[in-house]
Amino acid sequence: MPELVDVEMVRRKLLRWMKGARVVAVHATDRYVLRPASPATFRHALAGRTVRGVERRGKWLRVELDGDLRLFSHLGMTGDWALCAVGAPRMPSERARLDLVRGGAATALRYLDPRRFGRLVAARREIPEWCALGQDPLTDGLTERSLRRSLATSHRAVKERLMDQTALAGIGNVLATEALWIARIHPRARSNSLTAVEVRAIVRALWTAIRRELRDKPEGVERRRAYGRAGRSCPRCGKTFARIVLGGRTTVLCRRCQAPRHSARGAGRA
Ligand SMILES: [Zn+2]
Repeated sequence: MPELVDVEMVRRKLLRWMKGARVVAVHATDRYVLRPASPATFRHALAGRTVRGVERRGKWLRVELDGDLRLFSHLGMTGDWALCAVGAPRMPSERARLDLVRGGAATALRYLDPRRFGRLVAARREIPEWCALGQDPLTDGLTERSLRRSLATSHRAVKERLMDQTALAGIGNVLATEALWIARIHPRARSNSLTAVEVRAIVRALWTAIRRELRDKPEGVERRRAYGRAGRSCPRCGKTFARIVLGGRTTVLCRRCQAPRHSARGAGRA
């Protein structure tokens, strides 16, 4: 699933493609992905408007248009936006298309979502999903103090808390797995049992993981140390990475580097 850095990359390209452009036509038919679910209402809301900017919070994008309209976009599991020529044949995974004009040049953007877990919401005000989002590390900052405050109120396993979008927006399985491995914290450690030193280590590790993804993504490479490496060797100690299921999600950890010291209540031992 696209998380913080993936969605930030989409924001940057949308801004490049859309800012100052006028939406001259909207092609959208997928009632499952669109809100309002009526394609005609959705098309009518967007057509004729000019794009002022593109914001991101967590895994949500917000395209700001004139007339106080916003287009919220969540990429779900596999969604993405792509540039295409006006009149290009429709792709099977295409759920919406915006025909744009900027400075006399016509282009089109299409929203692709093969699995249809994404959402496109046209609204005149903020939507509840956007308002419920917690602190976003890139737009709001992330400090030891703010993370300590967020962890102190939770009995849950630290990995689940880090991935709770209402607490910390944008952190998904990749960043949480990487950060906890870097910080040498067991994913099941109870959030409110962590010491100040451990919280500081997690904050630093999150920034390391985020910066690494920001650097690697545009180059099209993934140099992850722990995520997706179950069964392979830990690059730090050589022990084989283990895989556990936590909160319904697969988690990779090194049982030597991330020894369980503070198991979350009811979560059992790894
Ligand atoms: Zn290790």
